[in-house]
Amino acid sequence: RPERQRKPDWIRVKAPVSKGYGETRKLMRDLNLNTVCEEAACPNIGECWTKKHATVMILGDTCTRACAFCNVKTGMPGKVDEQEPEHVAEAAAKMGLEHIVITSVDRDDLPDGGASQFVKVIEALRRNTPGTTIEILTPDFRGRMDAAVEAIVAAGPDVYNHNLETVPRLYPTIRPGARYYASLKLLERVKQHAPHVFTKSGMMLGLGEQRLEVHQVMDDMRCADIDFLTLGQYLRPTPKHAEVKEFVTPQAFDAYGAIARAKGFLQVASTPLTRSSYHAGDDFKEMRAA
Ligand code: SF4
Ligand code: SF4
Repeated sequence: RPERQRKPDWIRVKAPVSKGYGETRKLMRDLNLNTVCEEAACPNIGECWTKKHATVMILGDTCTRACAFCNVKTGMPGKVDEQEPEHVAEAAAKMGLEHIVITSVDRDDLPDGGASQFVKVIEALRRNTPGTTIEILTPDFRGRMDAAVEAIVAAGPDVYNHNLETVPRLYPTIRPGARYYASLKLLERVKQHAPHVFTKSGMMLGLGEQRLEVHQVMDDMRCADIDFLTLGQYLRPTPKHAEVKEFVTPQAFDAYGAIARAKGFLQVASTPLTRSSYHAGDDFKEMRAA
């Protein structure tokens, strides 16, 4: 039913044409880096790249999982690029980033799930751009979570993000390769290992979740001591992906935001176009200044 997928007025994005956009694109190509901005077909790419804010996706452009909402390619990934950590640091230096967000595809094929590459990227950034704050958005490291979390937090990121994405009832269809409680546990472990590291998580709304289920996820997140929350509208990247069940209104996003603040999150972003890395640097800076 195509009318269901028609976007409402509040989902308006600017076309990605600007000098900053072109420069960001060229830099990423020159350094052989992938971004989640492009791979996930993020609607904010015009705005973010104009401001030279991008989320680098390490460990290749091919994921070993196939989540029903995600536009990233699925299959058998290639070899890990050993130059990637230095290239990420070079990109951060050239863009003059105060804050960088690093994410990755899932690498269930690697013995450590890709944790050591996150460590190398954090170390390269600390060496080359010590003033840049680092936010990482990692996979769940299925089966090797404890070792992965321990190694990554020891490298010293400022913010550790892992998205729960949706309510537990929808995991079998939306996030079939993941387990809700395993994802929560991962963030709980981060806090246990490194209480000074801020933890962050997010959800996409509009996949058929009920209001009280969203409130329950917020409670679960607070029980796991998660500091920051992002809520945004799910947008279907192609007709092969999960259908949008509802376009949540901006007012409803505001109401969720108010409830989340009342539940004690330190920072909340809740608008239709919020993505976990949207305005991440500005929000983090603001939070630290407060
Ligand atoms: Fe990239 Fe995040 Fe901005 Fe989207 S919101 S364009 S993923 S930095
Ligand atoms: Fe996309 Fe991440 Fe799922 Fe891979 S694990 S398909 S990158 S959301």
